[in-house]
Amino acid sequence: MGELVGKTALVTGGTSGIGRAAAAALAREGAQVLISGRSEERGAEAVEAITADGGEAEFIRADLTSPKDVRALAARASEVDILVNNAGVFPGGPTHELPESAFDETFAVNVKAPFYLTAAIAPRMAARASGTIINVTTMVAEFGMAGLSAYGASKAATALLTKAWAAEYGPHGVRVNAVSPGPTLTPGTKAMGDGFAAIVSTIPLGRAARPEEIAEVILFLASDRASYLNGAVVPVDGGRVAV
Ligand code: NAP
Repeated sequence: MGELVGKTALVTGGTSGIGRAAAAALAREGAQVLISGRSEERGAEAVEAITADGGEAEFIRADLTSPKDVRALAARASEVDILVNNAGVFPGGPTHELPESAFDETFAVNVKAPFYLTAAIAPRMAARASGTIINVTTMVAEFGMAGLSAYGASKAATALLTKAWAAEYGPHGVRVNAVSPGPTLTPGTKAMGDGFAAIVSTIPLGRAARPEEIAEVILFLASDRASYLNGAVVPVDGGRVAV
């Protein structure tokens, strides 16, 4: 316990689901956690829950589709030891029905914002020869799934960026890895209804994940226990990409 005492972390999308569970897990181990999101209300709830558990957290409002907000968030969090690029959107539906605005939002939140947050924060980690970045991708970046083309493509970009950044910043003492979750019960997936159940039915373990099960792997990747892991995209998907 307390393996992250003295460390600071930024968890984007820490107001909900996987990000909220990851922020709680990092704080439980002693990290001071910055949580970003758009919703002041959910941000306050997440901070309150962490504080009630004895941890330290602060909410920063930032809309990751806004380059100005991304720059402000990067400036505020420039010295963090741990960056978790978790915020994401996952619009579903046929390719020919996806509005251009949804495509643009998906790539802005899932690819462009992590890119520029990392561009601002990784060099500061490299200068200290210390720090770690964890991206959150998805199992559907690993194989084709009808109805999730833009989402899968955006996360495939994130998976590749994980490897590119591991090559770029690894020599400077910064580890960059990713978790690749399977279907996870979060406020975001609640809205998916039958589509979510259909995905869950393809999982060898026969169930969806709890956010805490993904957060546990994020915590491991953030800790020194993962000191020789760099450039890994770790499946946390109940066995889905194995079959
Ligand atoms: P969620 O419950 O929908 O939460 C999404 C988070 O992203 C929220 O905290 C939200 O914050 C933030 N966010 C979305 N758009 C944003 C924007 N424009 N600006 C700033 N923040 C924004 O999602 P989740 O299910 O926990 O998913 C978290 C991550 O895991 C995503 O990257 C997702 O692709 C990935 N993932 C999820 C699953 C799954 O089954 N749940 C599976 C594989 C991968 P606000 O609403 O406060 O803005």
